[in-house]
Amino acid sequence: MSTLSKNRRFRVALVTGSTSGIGSAIAQRLYDDGFIVAFHSRSSVAEGERLAGTFSGSTYTQADLSEQDQVKFLISDVLSRHGRLDVLVNNAGINAMIPHEALKEASADVWRRLYEVNVIAPWTLIAEAEEALRASSTPDCPGCILNISSHAGVRPKGASIPYAVSKAALNHMTKLLALNLSPAIRVNAIAPGLVDTPMTETWTEAHKLWKEKAPMGRGAKPTEIADTASMLISSSYLTGEIILADGGLNLT
Ligand code: NAD
Repeated sequence: MSTLSKNRRFRVALVTGSTSGIGSAIAQRLYDDGFIVAFHSRSSVAEGERLAGTFSGSTYTQADLSEQDQVKFLISDVLSRHGRLDVLVNNAGINAMIPHEALKEASADVWRRLYEVNVIAPWTLIAEAEEALRASSTPDCPGCILNISSHAGVRPKGASIPYAVSKAALNHMTKLLALNLSPAIRVNAIAPGLVDTPMTETWTEAHKLWKEKAPMGRGAKPTEIADTASMLISSSYLTGEIILADGGLNLT
């Protein structure tokens, strides 16, 4: 075992939107991988505090990422409590279910709301975290950013066009920043297909589609996305990758 892995518990990972679904699974997996975890959510304070109390050394911060001052507060709060940041997982995101042909339903307000949380918030979090990620980076263990986008940002699919476009923007941001922040900071994304989380509980059509068409015959469990996150975060080399985790649906 390397000196780095023996001493890993000092490394800090912030996972946004980590009180439920994919974020919660990623945060708990990173704790198992040896990280101190900074949990975050918009509103589920009791669950956030329970998680922070359960995982030794962890903290919880509440912040509404549709408000830029709260986005900045999140990074400063994590840095003031932990003194460093090694990994930033931009997982928090929102969706809007709008038929693709209903153009007027996809109003300017819908576009702004989705862009604020799915694109602008990750950008500001990265900008605010850059200095700390550079400070903790070493040649063997660069700083790491992982964005959770969507298969809808890779293919012309998804719950609505504004959602798909916001995730496509996040994917493109991932590649542009990978180029710009290397070698000190690696930047990757996971583009999940259907994942069994509170967000998709009522998506009957999507569950049917994955069951009938995806080679894997089902959506993913959050822990399966967390496995991929763990792999990307533990790498010291991968950057600019967008891992499509859709059980092979894109092949059909
Ligand atoms: P979820 O609803 O369980 O989690 C979303 C998280 O985002 C919550 O913790 C919530 O607190 C946080 N969040 C939402 N708006 C916020 C705001 N304004 N400020 C702060 N936090 C906010 O959903 P999930 O399915 O686990 O989704 C996690 C990510 O994965 C999202 O970015 C989503 O777009 C993406 N995704 C999910 C699926 C899926 O099938 N579940 C598929 C592709 C991509």
